[in-house]
Amino acid sequence: MATYEYRCPRDGAFEVRLPLGEAGAATRCPDCHGTADRVWSAPSLARTPRALGAALDRAARSAETPEVVSRVPGRRPAAAAPAHPAHARLPRL
Ligand SMILES: [Zn+2]
Repeated sequence: MATYEYRCPRDGAFEVRLPLGEAGAATRCPDCHGTADRVWSAPSLARTPRALGAALDRAARSAETPEVVSRVPGRRPAAAAPAHPAHARLPRL
């Protein structure tokens, strides 16, 4: 068995274990079932960890079409500070 790497244009890289010589030029993506092309890489070299690969893919996609967000991810909007009675006497702009 050998590990072959494929890359889906939508979901990024994934690996498939197949007998030697049975990897095609393309296969089905396990997530979206679209066509994923085979990625040629040097054998027996350390592979990019899945999480890092996903982050790199996301960064590459973001360079072409940035994701639109309305707030900083992972943070909740700040709660309004409780009004102090003295604030009512401040001059209005
Ligand atoms: Zn896919």
